[in-house]
Amino acid sequence: MIKEATNVHAVLFYGTAGSGLEEAASNLARGWLCPNGGCGDCAVCRAYEGGRMVDLMWIKPWGPSGIIKLSAIKRRTPREDDDPEPPLREFFRTRPLMARNKVAVFESAHRMNSDAANALLKTLEEPPEYAKVVLTSSEFARVLPTVRSRCLNIACEAASDPKADEMTRVFAPSPGLAEQVVRHQTAYERLWKLLESSLEAPHGAAIALSEKTREASEALAKSMDTGARAANAEVLRCISEWLMVRHPGKPHLAQEAVELHRFIVQNANPGPVFDLLWAKVLA
Ligand SMILES: [Zn+2]
Repeated sequence: MIKEATNVHAVLFYGTAGSGLEEAASNLARGWLCPNGGCGDCAVCRAYEGGRMVDLMWIKPWGPSGIIKLSAIKRRTPREDDDPEPPLREFFRTRPLMARNKVAVFESAHRMNSDAANALLKTLEEPPEYAKVVLTSSEFARVLPTVRSRCLNIACEAASDPKADEMTRVFAPSPGLAEQVVRHQTAYERLWKLLESSLEAPHGAAIALSEKTREASEALAKSMDTGARAANAEVLRCISEWLMVRHPGKPHLAQEAVELHRFIVQNANPGPVFDLLWAKVLA
C-alpha cells in the first residue's frame, strides 16, 4: 500500500482492543509520509518520531462524550476558535509541506457521530491525490457501512496468550464476534465451563446439561440485553463451534447443532432442542 503505484487512499484497520490497531495505523501513516516508505532516517521520519510532522493529522474521540464530531472534518461556522486543530477539509486543501502525502488518522472511527462520518464520506469519495486516510476501530460493526465500503478493510488479530483466549478463539471465529464474547465474558464463560464439563459427563447427564444450557442462555440474554430466542440461537452457534473443536471426529454433531439453530430461529421450544442435542453429544 505504501508503494506509489497502488490506488489505495483509505484503509480501515479493525480488530479487538490489543490487536495493534494504532501501531498498524502509525506504521502505514509513516510509510505514506516518508519519501522512502518509512525509512526511519530521513527528515520526514525524524519529524514524525519527534511529533512534529505537519503533514499528519491524528484524530481521536474527544471531550466528555468521547466522540469524533463534525468539527473534526469541517467547520460549521467560518470561525470556530474553540477547536485548536484545523478540520480535515482544510488540512487536505493544501499539498503536503514536507512529506510525500498528507495523512489523516482516525482512531476509534466507530466513535464518529453520523454528521462527521457523512462529511468524511465526501473526502473519501473524491480525495486529492496526495490525501491518505487511515481509520482504526475495535467495533467494526459500528463503523458506518458507507465509510467501511470506501476503505480497504484489514482485520488485525491479537497476538495474545493462546491458552487464556481459548474460549474466544473457539466461540468467535471473526473479530466482530470476539468483541461480543469479550464484552459478555462472564456469560460466555458460564457456557464454556458447561461445555468443557460435558467431556467428562456420563451418558445419563443429557437432561442435566440441557437444563444448565438453558440457564447459561438466560444469563447470556440478560448480559446482552436480548430476547430468549436470540440468546438460544447464539448458544447453539457457540456449541456448534465448540463441537467442531472438541469433537472433530464427529462432524455430524456440529451439523446437528446448525440444524437445531435453525429450529430455534424459527421459534422452536428450546427445552426439547437442548435435550436432543445433549443426548446425541453424549451418545
Ligand atoms: Zn523516512
